[in-house]
Amino acid sequence: MLNKLLGKFSKDLGIDLGTKNTLVYSSDKGIVINEPSVVAVNMRTDEILAVGEEAKKMIGKTPAHIQTIKPLVDGVISDFEVTEKMIKYFIDKVHSESFTLAPRPRVIIGIPLDITEVEKKAVEDAAKSAGARQVYLVEESMAAAIGARLPVVEAIATMVVDVGGGTTEIAVISLGGVVTWKSLRLAGNAMDNDIIEYIREEFSILVGEQVAEKIKIKIGSAATLNEPMEMEVRGRDLINGLPKAVVINDSQVREAIGRTIKQIVENIKITLETTPPELVADIYEYGIFLTGGGALLRGLDKEIARETKIPVRVADDPLTCVVRGTGILLSDPELLKKIILPVSEEL
Ligand code: ADP
Ligand code: MG
Repeated sequence: MLNKLLGKFSKDLGIDLGTKNTLVYSSDKGIVINEPSVVAVNMRTDEILAVGEEAKKMIGKTPAHIQTIKPLVDGVISDFEVTEKMIKYFIDKVHSESFTLAPRPRVIIGIPLDITEVEKKAVEDAAKSAGARQVYLVEESMAAAIGARLPVVEAIATMVVDVGGGTTEIAVISLGGVVTWKSLRLAGNAMDNDIIEYIREEFSILVGEQVAEKIKIKIGSAATLNEPMEMEVRGRDLINGLPKAVVINDSQVREAIGRTIKQIVENIKITLETTPPELVADIYEYGIFLTGGGALLRGLDKEIARETKIPVRVADDPLTCVVRGTGILLSDPELLKKIILPVSEEL
């Protein structure tokens, strides 16, 4: 039945609705959208002014009647209406570019592990009212593992740690299902906030989120580097209110984000402790796989390996693992059938 339904999955879409970035995979073209999950709204008229990259550029620069909204918080929808409009904007963009009289697409969407039935339904409804004919929900961790080409349906356990913007999702996958898992609301954004706080305390300077993120990406690390790094940072002097520049180095940034890294590592250990021994043996053999943008933090793999004594690998192109996973599912109905989550019950 499902097979038949999915038989003509030719122009359908996979969506990774992330706290930080939204990606869309089209079955005929691959990744067609990769933009920040930001929407700019005119509050007077309720009109959408910009979505994605364009809306992100407006953050912190808008007059009072324009608001830049990040409709997802910690991986779940916090602003339903805006999320729906954002999905609709992206679906329309993909559709208008490729064909005119095409049927409405079927859509596979990744969802976080610790999501309530109500939140699940919200994702489904948002995609449906944005124009999806049919919505299939899969766990993001599962999609990430598929995107990383891990053997998800075999009797081999693998551990995937997805470090995104809002959440870190740790999952042990075996035989097509998530066996043990942990989801923490602590990931890239928390590291950015750690950096803001550190700079305020050490240098009495206030920097914004985007500057903090740049520092993290440019010189951030979770383990000691071979070559020291530093960069100049500009912010507002908290004492006299004027602009001021200071130089921050890699060891200071490491100290700043250290507590967030520690939490991530601790939760990986806790998840391993609650995983059945046969599965842990597989994980020791095959290693832990890192996905999500946070996987790109220098030395995160090394630090997790040092603490857990398990080999750790960063998946190829970690930022696109989830959406590529949904893409693989679009072309493999048999696999989709094995791992798909039941549609939400009527509430
Ligand atoms: P989400 O799924 O929550 O939208 P992503 O998987 O897109 O998140 O990852 C976004 C996070 O990854 C952000 O916090 C971003 O700062 C972080 N990130 C991206 N590139 C790097 C990098 N090179 N080093 C460290 N963190 C990075
Ligand atoms: Mg993600």
